Amino acid sequence: MACSQGEAFVTLATNDSYAVGALVLAQSLRIAGTTHDLVVMITPGVSQGMREHLGQVYTMVHPVDVMDSKDEAHLAMMTRPELGVTLTKLHVWTLVQYSKCVFMDADTLVLANIDDLFEREQLSAAVDIGWPDCFNSGVFVMQPSLATFHDLVAHAIEKGSFDGGDQGLLNTFFGDWGTADIKKHLPFIYNMTASSTYTYLPAYKQFGKGVKVVHFLGSRKPWHYRFNAQSKNVEHSDGAYAGELLQQWWNVFACHVQPKLDPWVAPVESG
Ligand code: UDP
Ligand code: MN
Repeated sequence: MACSQGEAFVTLATNDSYAVGALVLAQSLRIAGTTHDLVVMITPGVSQGMREHLGQVYTMVHPVDVMDSKDEAHLAMMTRPELGVTLTKLHVWTLVQYSKCVFMDADTLVLANIDDLFEREQLSAAVDIGWPDCFNSGVFVMQPSLATFHDLVAHAIEKGSFDGGDQGLLNTFFGDWGTADIKKHLPFIYNMTASSTYTYLPAYKQFGKGVKVVHFLGSRKPWHYRFNAQSKNVEHSDGAYAGELLQQWWNVFACHVQPKLDPWVAPVESG
């Protein structure tokens, strides 16, 4: 049994829409029985009211302001403003009060306990379905370290990111991920892209029951869909299996998040 003290699940929200995702993620982690700390990194774009909601379920609501943070990060922002959200995610490396963290995108949903991820080492992640020699940076196991943070920021300034986001940057920084150590390849069930249900339906039918984390990757997030408050169903024109996953996200929202948001807050917001 790993000691739970020094380990945390960490996510990021830069606005109230992603904060709703973070609320659902945290509830799903607790429903799955984790006793680890939950940390949400936020930027000034998250409203005061939403910070209070986050504070009720997260162990720590941790403000990160890229412009006011480390000098290198500030410099990178000035010369490469497109790296803003990317560099914000990198702040997970500054959480040195923890010996290990699992970073999870705010658009992920946990369906089963994943505490065993803390037995893995930096940098462990699952493949990206768009380019499987790269890992997807929506779920990864890492070890906080200020030295690594500075190296990552320097890398961002010098080399940039081939996709403009954190995933391109992290895949060049941890460039041997694809070949060095198979133990750092997380099974796909720890970061299953929701669209896999229609891109490879037979595999989903075979392995889908084992899925532990769903990732709603792409521009359309669960909170962009309409939810029928009477029928408790999400309205969608996606495939049946993808729709079921969306429904599971909305079930957590409706049962565990919405009742605490008073008055009713529709999470739908453009962008
Ligand atoms: N994020 C955020 N605000 C943004 C964009 C992204 O807080 O405007 C955070 C959030 O945690 C999100 C993660 O960065 O889950 C990665 O972005 P996203 O999930 O939208 O990318 P995708 O997984 O679709 O490639
Ligand atoms: Mn994502």
